[in-house]
Amino acid sequence: MRLVFLGKPGSGKGTQSKFIEKEYSIPAISTGDLIRGAIKEDTPLGVEFKSYTSRGALVPDELVVAIVVERLGEEDCRDGFLLDGFPRTIPQAVALENILADQGLPLQSVLNLLVPDELLTERAHGRRFCGGCGASFHVKFAAPSVENTCDHCGLVGLHQREDDRADVVGARIEEYNTKTAPLIGFYAERDLLAEVDGVGSLVDVQNRIRGALVPASQD
Ligand code: AMP
Repeated sequence: MRLVFLGKPGSGKGTQSKFIEKEYSIPAISTGDLIRGAIKEDTPLGVEFKSYTSRGALVPDELVVAIVVERLGEEDCRDGFLLDGFPRTIPQAVALENILADQGLPLQSVLNLLVPDELLTERAHGRRFCGGCGASFHVKFAAPSVENTCDHCGLVGLHQREDDRADVVGARIEEYNTKTAPLIGFYAERDLLAEVDGVGSLVDVQNRIRGALVPASQD
């Protein structure tokens, strides 16, 4: 399956991507993760990325498109992929459409995970990550059994993403509303859009995703 996952910051897209990756045996490609990887390595590109991500702004289209093209060229994407956090602008969506058309492998479905704005800041602000194994937690909704300690690898000292601070989350939601929301119409026109209610338990949302992907899995 070739899928795109849309959803505002804090909608639970990252968590559900991991579920889709396992359930459908396709790699979940998160542009946010690729960008954070470059920032961590402190490459010149990483330094440039940080000047955008630290204030909740989108990274310029041509830079993100280049990293996605490279990633989609890897062997594990041959039988499908889930793009988590890409595209985020109309020019990115057009670039993706052209790249996939060249390969004769168009998208099969675009999931849009819907969560009301008033829940997003609390969800994003409370997220914590393990720097050892990458597991994610939430101080209120999915707290680790021992405070500040990873349930999976035992590492003490979970961290908050710099751009999950309340002030930056607001800027990210604003970027979504102005630059990413137009993609909903873009994909609806192409009859690819599947809207999924993202409010409820993890399992409820997983079941809704399964239901929304039935037509794509029969393609
Ligand atoms: P995410 O982990 O998807 O929330 O992304 C974290 C940050 O990385 C975003 O706030 C942007 O600054 C940047 N980013 C990720 N994906 C994209 C994209 N497709 N276009 C532009 N910037 C992106």
